Amino acid sequence: MIKKKIAIIGAGFTGLAAGFRLLQIGHEVTVFEKRDRPGGMSGGFREKAWEWTLEEYYHHWFTNDIHILGLAAEIGYKTIMCKPVTSVYVEDQLYQFDSPQSILRFPKLSLFDKLRMAAAIGVIRYDPFWKPLEGINAGSFLPKVMGKKAYRLIWEPQFTNKFGKYSDEVSLAWFWARIRKRTQSLVYPVGGFLQFANALIEKIIKLGGNVFFNMEVTSVKEDNGVFLRVSERKKENIRKFDSAIITIPSTGFLEIAPQLSQNYKNSLGRLNSLGATNLVLRLNKQFFPDKTYWLSICDSAAGIMAIVEHTNFMDKRHYNNEHIVYVGNYTTSDHPKFLASKEKLLSTYDPFLRKINSAYKNNLIDYKLFKTPFAQPIIPPYYSKLIPSIATPLPNIYLANMQQVYPWDRGTNYAVELGEKTASMVHEYTKI
Ligand SMILES: Cc1cc2nc3c(=O)[nH]c(=O)nc-3n(C[C@H](O)[C@H](O)[C@H](O)COP(=O)(O)OP(=O)(O)OC[C@H]3O[C@@H](n4cnc5c(N)ncnc54)[C@H](O)[C@@H]3O)c2cc1C
Repeated sequence: MIKKKIAIIGAGFTGLAAGFRLLQIGHEVTVFEKRDRPGGMSGGFREKAWEWTLEEYYHHWFTNDIHILGLAAEIGYKTIMCKPVTSVYVEDQLYQFDSPQSILRFPKLSLFDKLRMAAAIGVIRYDPFWKPLEGINAGSFLPKVMGKKAYRLIWEPQFTNKFGKYSDEVSLAWFWARIRKRTQSLVYPVGGFLQFANALIEKIIKLGGNVFFNMEVTSVKEDNGVFLRVSERKKENIRKFDSAIITIPSTGFLEIAPQLSQNYKNSLGRLNSLGATNLVLRLNKQFFPDKTYWLSICDSAAGIMAIVEHTNFMDKRHYNNEHIVYVGNYTTSDHPKFLASKEKLLSTYDPFLRKINSAYKNNLIDYKLFKTPFAQPIIPPYYSKLIPSIATPLPNIYLANMQQVYPWDRGTNYAVELGEKTASMVHEYTKI
């Protein structure tokens, strides 16, 4: 085997999985990460008194997330599985909505409407073929099969809250992927996702890989080799590699790769995505009146997609007995809510949060705001025709990001699968 020098840009789970696999094969790997820690969008932070790290954006795995669970098992990393409560907020009330029994108890729909909705979801979930669904618009199709009432009450507000101005453009294949993968039991890495990413970094270093934090790649060029301009605290230097795997958002790739053709730039430029904002509230009392972990807000006027009480999933003792609540939303990155300060955002959400827990502010220890501009790809009908290929027009330069995990929706499980697939492509290519 010819040993190649391979650069990986980004230490999220795509980059970490690709780096780990390439090192196992025997290549020389260098990872550049612009932040001071790994994990990307699933990375996190730790307050002084906390035992565990916490994600900047709510995260969990499904029990069928075989790629990331397999990787965790392979490196001997412990995970926890449990069955937290998922609920919906409908007409000013919380209702558990995560099992056939709880759905049968849901009082806002007749038995016929509930059975029809359950049958429609069951048929979509157990349909193994996503391809025939991809040309269908979810917003036009779903009310026809599940009934207008159930769609308007439960699903339409969730589409509006999640996709905003794109809510009428989403393919049924996206909806299929979301409900097909959902499992009632969820899994979490002991110590948090950042801790897990750090464990992978340790393995990468043990295998001889180099990992550089606080190093931003500002340019990538191909000229009989791949040349990266790397910036560290305003000092820049050029490094040469045989190949590079770019795991940053496509818009970032367009900015750092001036050699890309206009045609290719146009094809990446056609893909839309939304940014995410998450307020993380630290409370000294539980927020929800019951044990709800995940609350989907079925109220388009709320302007909040979900409220997630992490400590109704993982034990609060890992966080110094604090109760942790995420208030999550998706918007375009030029939306006033995306640009707002944490104080402004909390005051915007405050009337809605008070409807659920009128005293929450008295229990507020502190709060943080996280935002990321490319968080949720928009999957319109026939996305398979738009999906960027991993091999780019520039020789030995590969793109691997969440716009390429289709038909699945973005997630760390698919980041690992994509990282592994890209690693084997790079290896196969370098064998020639
Ligand atoms: C609100 C929210 C909730 C989510 N919930 C879940 C969940 O419950 N479960 C789940 O599995 N997934 C979830 N995800 C998705 C998951 O976070 C992503 O699928 C995953 O993080 C993608 O990994 P990645 O490595 O492809 O990209 P990223 O995580 O975006 O990593 C890219 C890395 O590249 C770095 N970078 C960018 N530009 C440069 C540069 N020029 N030079 C060097 N480094 C650079 C970034 O700092 C980052 O670390 C969620 C995401 C969001 C936003």
